[in-house]
Amino acid sequence: MPKLFEDLTPDALIDLKWKDLASHYADLEREAIDEKTIEDWMARWTTLTEIQEELYNRAYVATSMNTMDKTAENRFDEYMQEIYPSVKTAEQQLKKKLLDSGLSVEGFEIPLRNMRAEAALFREKNIPLRIEEEKLSNAFDKIIGAQSVQWEGEEKTVRQMEILLREKDAQTRLAGWEIMAQRQLDDRKAINDLWSQFMDIRARIAENAGLASFRDFRWLELLRFDYTPEDCKSFHQAIEEVVVPVVNQLAERRKKALGRGTLRYCDIFVDPSDQEALKPFSDVKELKQGVDAILNKVHPRFAAYFKQMDREGLLDLENRKNKANGAYCTEYAYSKRPFIFANAVGLHDDVQTVLHEGGHSFHSFECFNLPYFQQRAVPIEFAEVASMGMEFLSTRYLGRENGGFYSEADAARAQAEHLEQSLMFWPYMAIVDAFQHWVYENPNEGKNPDFCDAKWAELEDRFRPYIDWTGYEDVKMTGWHRKDHIHQLPFYYIEYGLAQLGAAQIWKAALGDERKAVESYRKALSLGGTVTLPDLYEAAGVKFAFDAATLRQAVAQMAQTITALD
Ligand SMILES: [Zn+2]
Repeated sequence: MPKLFEDLTPDALIDLKWKDLASHYADLEREAIDEKTIEDWMARWTTLTEIQEELYNRAYVATSMNTMDKTAENRFDEYMQEIYPSVKTAEQQLKKKLLDSGLSVEGFEIPLRNMRAEAALFREKNIPLRIEEEKLSNAFDKIIGAQSVQWEGEEKTVRQMEILLREKDAQTRLAGWEIMAQRQLDDRKAINDLWSQFMDIRARIAENAGLASFRDFRWLELLRFDYTPEDCKSFHQAIEEVVVPVVNQLAERRKKALGRGTLRYCDIFVDPSDQEALKPFSDVKELKQGVDAILNKVHPRFAAYFKQMDREGLLDLENRKNKANGAYCTEYAYSKRPFIFANAVGLHDDVQTVLHEGGHSFHSFECFNLPYFQQRAVPIEFAEVASMGMEFLSTRYLGRENGGFYSEADAARAQAEHLEQSLMFWPYMAIVDAFQHWVYENPNEGKNPDFCDAKWAELEDRFRPYIDWTGYEDVKMTGWHRKDHIHQLPFYYIEYGLAQLGAAQIWKAALGDERKAVESYRKALSLGGTVTLPDLYEAAGVKFAFDAATLRQAVAQMAQTITALD
């Protein structure tokens, strides 16, 4: 790796200013390049990009670890104001220089294709709009992060309250859900206001790029070369045809087990058996131990990566007040390390989340071997195969006899729950995706929260007819408020649905020849973004698909396994 700075520790890195980076960018921009020098030039570019990306990611991580940390907030704002615009412009110049030169290096066809698309989409005048959009996104984080309620004499975050959706006692569950839902509805106006601002800015971004809609813009920006909006709609259709009937049957089984005539939203996550909710761990240390043991069964290399991250302080897993919502995996590219953020409170979900983010982190580790940063940009439709695939591959090792968390019976329950929840996810994913297609196909209605509410309710009826929302119509129609992707990462969601189909296919293959399935999975991770999506799936031994037939095969195996585990 070319050295641009002496002894650049993480502490020194995070204090870098634009002036420290500017001369290096200027050098790269000025130097003549030819076939002899291109590799060295690209390697230095990679190092520089790694440094500034790590700077951004460290600044972001600090704000999400404590949303009230003023120093972190100021540093992040400073990055966004002083470094981000200059870096964007400088990176753009280097891309242009490479594209204009007609030069390339080995394994660079796909990155070049992506760079051409990005160059075609870039507009100087969109930089300040993207910064505005990022600020709205931070404002959204702040609203969600401040949502807390009083429950049994204690202040709880709404995220902490989610544990009550697993509570066996129906009255407690309902009471907890009502308090949570009311607290979220209290922010209805604030989120509606942000939404209109998001929509205005996004319309201007698309217009600046000369595109008819923000969907067209996002399609190019998300580098979706291997499928179209029509494919997405086919997938929604396939889900309606194949998954919804199976989930309706599971809902009947659930009703019977719970002894109820109808299912409310607060009844769909609870374990329907007559047993206590799964409580896999009491503290984060136990969580880490269990995950480590499971990973060791899937592949010792993955456990070694996880241990290394723990040793190096790259796992922030426990829920605290003033921590940002959700979970993610990011990376410190210059240090060649991933970082995992979560909000674990003691649920089985938390185990799944850490395995999921773990899959992402192993993907990073495998990709750091690729020489140029552009080759490590993995399409999300496959990045989520890495994470969901890890969840699926882990399910058979949840039992204590494998070092996992549960008795044999509880492990079976956990596995059945994972499959049931995965099946229930597809229709929800279809709602989230179909909603956004509608929003950006009809931007005038789409920016009006009342129309959004009506559309969301209509999609609920189409894809989740088994939920009875009587008396909770406001909660039903504001479901789009509770899906942060819609606000912060538009259109980024179907990736999960497509990838889940990839992951389910890998799991199905592993039920046959596990060793081969895991090896193919790992091999596909190491390819990074150097081949097309269909080729990545193929390397993993599966098919990139939107059709009812492929979906039906996976769904049949899942439904059959649930029955066998009963
Ligand atoms: Zn993920």
